[in-house]
Amino acid sequence: MAQRYYTLAEGCPYASNSTSVQLRSGNAGLLLMQDTQLIETLAHFARERIPERVVHAKAAGAYGEFTCTHDCTDITSASFLSEIGKTTPLLLRISTVGPEAGSADTLRDVHGWAMKLYTDEGNLDWVFNNTPVFFIRDPLKFPSLNRSHKRNPQSHLPDPNMFWDFHAGNPEGFHQLLHLFSDRGTPASLRHMNAYSGHTYKFTLKDGSFNYVKFHIKTTQGIKNFTKEESVRVAGENPDFLIQDMFEVIERKDYPEWKVYVQVMTPEQAETYRWNIFDMTKVWPHSDFPLRQIGTMKLNRNPRNYFTDIEQAAFSPSNMVPGIAPSADPVLQARMFSYPDAARYRLGTNYQQLPTNAAKAPVYCPYQRDGQMNFSDNYGADPNYVGSSLQPITYYQDLTGQPPQTVSTLTEHEKWVGQVSNFQYGLYEDDFEQAAGLWKVIGKEPGHQERFFGNVAVHLSQVKSSALRKRVYGLFGRVDWGLGEGVRKATEGLVNDAHKT
Ligand code: NDP
Repeated sequence: MAQRYYTLAEGCPYASNSTSVQLRSGNAGLLLMQDTQLIETLAHFARERIPERVVHAKAAGAYGEFTCTHDCTDITSASFLSEIGKTTPLLLRISTVGPEAGSADTLRDVHGWAMKLYTDEGNLDWVFNNTPVFFIRDPLKFPSLNRSHKRNPQSHLPDPNMFWDFHAGNPEGFHQLLHLFSDRGTPASLRHMNAYSGHTYKFTLKDGSFNYVKFHIKTTQGIKNFTKEESVRVAGENPDFLIQDMFEVIERKDYPEWKVYVQVMTPEQAETYRWNIFDMTKVWPHSDFPLRQIGTMKLNRNPRNYFTDIEQAAFSPSNMVPGIAPSADPVLQARMFSYPDAARYRLGTNYQQLPTNAAKAPVYCPYQRDGQMNFSDNYGADPNYVGSSLQPITYYQDLTGQPPQTVSTLTEHEKWVGQVSNFQYGLYEDDFEQAAGLWKVIGKEPGHQERFFGNVAVHLSQVKSSALRKRVYGLFGRVDWGLGEGVRKATEGLVNDAHKT
């Protein structure tokens, strides 16, 4: 019989949906411990927040699909790229990075692009950004970088002094700073921006061979950005503007679309290439490695519930399918540990079982069992240790009608010769060369360089130390003399104005 009443979480009906049980005497009353409904309601409320992501806390998210549009079988054996027209469901979560979940989403920041492709060979996560490069190439710096973009440990205020102090001390990130303070640092909607893997990955074939690849996801809607004035105004008027825009376009079936490309480099080309392909402060210039389209993607379904579908979503660069493999980029290698580690802390040991994270391909992982909040049937009576000959494996067979097989997804790896020693990244002379290339690209758009000066100046002028400001002008000047000068003039103009008032 269909249930027609509200219940406790245990399924039992309760007396009233809206009042507590009280021992009444006239209008007054005493609460009783027997009011399970009240106690459960209050206790659950106190526990309904889970830890906020330490970075990428604020986000929009939606479901959609990826379609393979071009023959890729010469470069990868990945099943989702095996046939033109093959579609794969996906989940995309687009976030800001530094500020908290309640912050305004149009303010200047890098935007994260976390995408889960539910392929027929398991989940593939692309955890990208809307910029093709990153601030650092040594993963040890990651917490420092992010703290410097967050709040001052004493004042609890965002602190431009910390921000510029970090970047002046770690100037390999100036290429990324050019992206951040360009017009693209304030996208006018999440539909109007691109995403990039940044990292080098590998596409692999069944014969063990591989190529290096970088992914590019380009908006079909075209790039559209806010000016700094617009982004600040919208932040005040509607701090959730980007989330709302994404939700509403999908509700009205105006589905946003992107084209997906790769740049492909052979291992031989990598050996002699002038840029270190494992350094994520660098791009592969398009003129050297042109884009090759592999697919399209679109978003076409809003979450049914934000918490279950988006907040509980966990993405990791370590989620890869056969045909795709990691490269030796140290930041990628570190993220492959760090993201699942964060998910275990935030969501618990069995976060992969949550519906939004669960693979749509059959899962048979009997050596990962038990743990808090395990709501699977835990592989029944199947052996929980390797090498067993005692018991027939039944669970997987029940699921698929097939006995489980072992498939090796290992492919040829890069060959390394060397010795283990302490190594510290320094600053290299060519760290400013690609930034200079971007400065020229920016210069092609009328007024963009002037806007860039203004975008930096409003932030940098808040730095109290004139010596630090000077260091920053010098570093921008190493990219391009005119850039350093332009930033200096615009910034010192605002500093002087502030002193006058
Ligand atoms: P190209 O002139 O061949 O490519 C420039 C690329 O820069 C464009 O294809 C476009 O990428 C992107 N771009 C255009 N306008 C802007 C802008 N206002 N802000 C940020 N990016 C913009 O030169 P290179 O390939 O030699 O790259 C020069 C610089 O361009 C790089 O140092 C890098 O910072 C930037 N860039 C390069 C990319 C690459 O993978 N080579 C990708 C993105 C940026 P898109 O079509 O993806 O929008």
